[in-house]
Amino acid sequence: TTRAVWFRRDLRLNDHTALAKALEHTKKGDEIVCVFHIDPALNETFTPNHDYFFQTLATLVEDAEQKGAPIHFIEGDIETAFQNLIEQLDVNMVYFNRDETGYGKKRDQQLLPFLNSINVEVYHYIDHHLHGSGEVRKQDGNHYKVFTPYFRKWKQLQKPTVQKVDHELLSKVSINERVSFSQGIKAFDDLVNHTERVFEGVGEKEALQQLEHFLEEDIYDYDERRDYPAVDGTSLMSRYLRTGAISIRTIYHQIEDRIDHRRKTTGVDTYVSELAWRDFYNMIYHFYPNAGNEEMVQKYQGIPWNNDEDILRKWQEGQTGFPLIDAAMRQLNETGWMHNRLRMAVASFLTKDLLIDWRKGERYFKDRLIDYDPASNIGGWQWAASTGTDPVPYFRVFNPTRQSERFDPHGRFIKGWLPELENVKKKHIHDPSRMSIEDQEEANCIIGEDYPAPMVDHKRMRERAIELFKDKT
Ligand code: FAD
Repeated sequence: TTRAVWFRRDLRLNDHTALAKALEHTKKGDEIVCVFHIDPALNETFTPNHDYFFQTLATLVEDAEQKGAPIHFIEGDIETAFQNLIEQLDVNMVYFNRDETGYGKKRDQQLLPFLNSINVEVYHYIDHHLHGSGEVRKQDGNHYKVFTPYFRKWKQLQKPTVQKVDHELLSKVSINERVSFSQGIKAFDDLVNHTERVFEGVGEKEALQQLEHFLEEDIYDYDERRDYPAVDGTSLMSRYLRTGAISIRTIYHQIEDRIDHRRKTTGVDTYVSELAWRDFYNMIYHFYPNAGNEEMVQKYQGIPWNNDEDILRKWQEGQTGFPLIDAAMRQLNETGWMHNRLRMAVASFLTKDLLIDWRKGERYFKDRLIDYDPASNIGGWQWAASTGTDPVPYFRVFNPTRQSERFDPHGRFIKGWLPELENVKKKHIHDPSRMSIEDQEEANCIIGEDYPAPMVDHKRMRERAIELFKDKT
């Protein structure tokens, strides 16, 4: 028997359900082939998120090669690619970790009947989340819409165990020779070389090291430090979770096993609740598959958002005149990551201060984030726009200057990303437009030349935003 393990967005060799199960089912004389599918039709849709993904894939290819289990690339539309694989290597069974939402789900729905029709057995698993979209239910069987009760239930449920991969067996039973698929290898090379951009934190080894580092100390103060973008107070796990370079079960169980319970553990509890938000939004996206296009709360569909492209561009480029917002957007544009506090602040600013359609913000994040995850991103944007199932109430609008004073009190984060404000004094850093001409000259920062004046009056825009929503309520 030959089993194919299909790697998708689970680019690792440890704690991998499909791989562990395929090995568990292996009997004497059986073989395993590890594959990755490349669909050239998707090349058109490239973003930095893909570039980061393929660099992660390259690390998996190296790790797998070292373990004696090379990844084989199959190429073409999904059915033809699998047909070729099945014929050339006499594959009888296909194993993979399934998607519950979006493109991955559609692809699975297309491939499954096809594989069944050619008598290939298929085994697929929930692997990306601690609890899949159907697991956390209310007493009456319905799904939750609000996080707090969801989380209460989530906490009570038994968590899945780590899916240990027997690497010794893997190297013994793997098909080693690269018989065919030369086209696939070329396609892979092209993908990896698509960009020269170098990303920080790529692949399984770095994911495990970063987790180790976070669990040593930072997790204990996570609740106190996670809101300050100038502080490295968060785990930076999102990019690894997105590519599957680390398993969510590994994160969860490492926490359980390693935490020193004699210490204050509110940081730990808060951190675990963030992992539950990820499951929550996956569940929401499953039940609202059109949430990327329309407001989840029906009464808010049809809000007359502003479509001014110049306004949108100023936000995208970090030229709004609100330093925290601008610094955040530049962090995103340069690194492909943005601190959570800032994601909330810039999303609120775009939707409530600029009244721009949240879909435009969601799409901009999609084009830039290396941890882009449709469920969490759409969830986060609809939360900020007050149109989701568990949103920030529409009348509670973030004040961008106040956010800046609270969460970057010394302006350290701002100055790190806005060199034009380097010499601005602390008392003016949250609103440089208040500097006198002398102050501007002294700081070498002329408002309107070196740095823009605020593009809107927050107080007025807040009122307008509230009116827009009130009209619909
Ligand atoms: P940590 O604070 O260390 O959190 C640990 C993990 O918990 C994260 O890696 C993530 O998997 C999960 N998590 C934390 N907060 C959230 C949340 N609010 N929703 C869902 N999961 C969460 N996260 C993404 O992974 N991809 C996205 O595309 C994305 N878009 C967002 C858009 C907006 C408008 C907002 C407000 C939030 C978005 N988030 C997104 C959630 C959050 O900002 C990031 O997960 C977090 O900043 C990643 O950094 P970290 O790993 O250091 O987080």
